[in-house]
Amino acid sequence: MSIAESIKSLKKETGEINVALLAVSKTKPAADLQEAYDAGQRLFGENTVQEMVEKQEQLPKDIEWHLIGHLQSNKVKYIAPFISMIQSVDTMKLLQEINKHAEKNKRVIDCLLQIYIADEETKFGLGFDEAIELLRSEEYTALKNIRIRGLMGIATNTDSDKQIKDEYYELKTFFDGIKVSFFRKEDSFDTLSMGMSSDYKLAIEQGSNMVRLGSTIFGSRAKKSV
Ligand SMILES: *Cc1c(COP(=O)(O)O)cnc(C)c1O
Repeated sequence: MSIAESIKSLKKETGEINVALLAVSKTKPAADLQEAYDAGQRLFGENTVQEMVEKQEQLPKDIEWHLIGHLQSNKVKYIAPFISMIQSVDTMKLLQEINKHAEKNKRVIDCLLQIYIADEETKFGLGFDEAIELLRSEEYTALKNIRIRGLMGIATNTDSDKQIKDEYYELKTFFDGIKVSFFRKEDSFDTLSMGMSSDYKLAIEQGSNMVRLGSTIFGSRAKKSV
């Protein structure tokens, strides 16, 4: 399938059930993103600041850029003027830095807390307890230029559907709990970003409302840069 055909069919599949489709375009050239854009895609995800900034300069300005990779505090300033959502918030320090640069740019930046759900040592993210601690803290309450829109999680890279399902189920349950405990009055806590090419159907079954798809749309990536 071409990029345009993949976008059209995935937009139909996810649109019917109100699941947002994030096109993960890391390592792919701007021309590939343009093809997806021309097929109607507006949400794009990148995992490095440098790649995102380069593409943002070349591509239409109504694209909504989501950062999904680990973000270093000293790089926030490069994306603060235009970023739509930072899905990979995993420390209080980073959140404070995002807030600072959002304020400088006179805007509010939407964020997701990245929650650690995988049975792997290499994945970034907050533990359940750490996320609760962050949301309870006075430091967090003081931040006026960020808005926590929900949670993001990456499941274990495994062939076991059962394990993936269990991890997504846990994250959905946690999401519901956090919503009730901390965001009862805020409709804007509404995004549960879970599911990649290999497991997005399982993620949707478990309650995801945003899937992050790369290879399904753009074809496989060179192994090293995954
Ligand atoms: C690369 C990446 C994706 C997309 O991966 P695919 O398997 O190509 O769909 C989704 N989420 C994150 C955080 C990623 O880094």
